[in-house]
Amino acid sequence: MAEEKTRSPLDLELVALTKRYGDTLAVDAIDHVFPASSYVCLLGPSGCGKSTTLRMIAGHEAVSDGTIVLGGSEISRRPPAERGTAMMFQSYALFPHLSVIDNVSFGLKMRGIAQGPRHAKAKELLDLVDMVELADRRPDQLSGGQQQRVALARAMASEPQVLLLDEPLSALDPFLRLRVRAELKRLHRELGITFIHVTHSQDEAMALSDQIVVMNAGKIEQAGSPRDVFNAPGTAFVARFIGNHNVLQLSDGQYSIRSDRVQVGPVANAKLPATVSAIEYQGTTVAVSVETEDAQELTVLVAEDQFFEVPLNHNEQVGLTWHGEDLHRLGK
Ligand code: ADP
Ligand code: MG
Repeated sequence: MAEEKTRSPLDLELVALTKRYGDTLAVDAIDHVFPASSYVCLLGPSGCGKSTTLRMIAGHEAVSDGTIVLGGSEISRRPPAERGTAMMFQSYALFPHLSVIDNVSFGLKMRGIAQGPRHAKAKELLDLVDMVELADRRPDQLSGGQQQRVALARAMASEPQVLLLDEPLSALDPFLRLRVRAELKRLHRELGITFIHVTHSQDEAMALSDQIVVMNAGKIEQAGSPRDVFNAPGTAFVARFIGNHNVLQLSDGQYSIRSDRVQVGPVANAKLPATVSAIEYQGTTVAVSVETEDAQELTVLVAEDQFFEVPLNHNEQVGLTWHGEDLHRLGK
């Protein structure tokens, strides 16, 4: 908007950021830099501190310790509207009695901007989410997906440098989820601002992120590009959580290996003997679960064609092999 200062690329930095609720340590002194204009997913199981982290960045939750720095300025104690961040809530939290366009321009109205320019701005934002045609409807006249787009447009009205999204796709059915996911990615490209998206879905994080931040029990377990995290999980937790990996205890330590990098074949000359415990057809691949003699369970993804060349059977004795470079030693 005309009266806004011009923005420059800005990194968001968390320094020893901590949140305590009584005896619960929800966020445990995390340090992280979110590069300006990146799409970052905070990924982790329920209760690991993702939403608390996001709410502290937004200013909806007080910081117990540590600081939040955006573009060189500390914002940790500023009110939400003065941080350069905006949050889209999981519940969308639209005003039921206001039309779509008035929902989107509500914040502008609060800032004393006249109806003409604020509706013009709201139309621009509604155009971005493909909702101009429904500008006069009320939220209860919209589908879940449409309400979500309005909530997105409303969050954008303050022209944030950082958009915060807490499980933005979780209320959508699977078909719509994929569509809106692609729209989020497009929106991120067009706006060029930083998106921080909280999710417990590995697929979502992989599909969207420039950077994945895996959280566990209030701490950052690992951060990196989706490919780096997928190909070199640093801990057993990350390997298990990211999926399509096996965690394997060998005589000299604990390792991870991608499920598609283990071969199932004859027992002779194999690295590890095992028994087939389950076979699941998945279309492009067949997931073969096996159990080793020391009761470790692994899943091997075999390409469909390859599986049906020499089909395996339940309870069959097999041998597992792999290339040494596909084993990754894990930290604890
Ligand atoms: P996530 O979003 O990863 O599921 P949260 O950030 O919501 O996790 O929660 C992290 C931890 O903090 C959990 O143990 C949760 O029970 C606790 N917690 C979250 N909000 C509150 C609150 N308002 N009061 C007390 N404990 C809370
Ligand atoms: Mg949450």
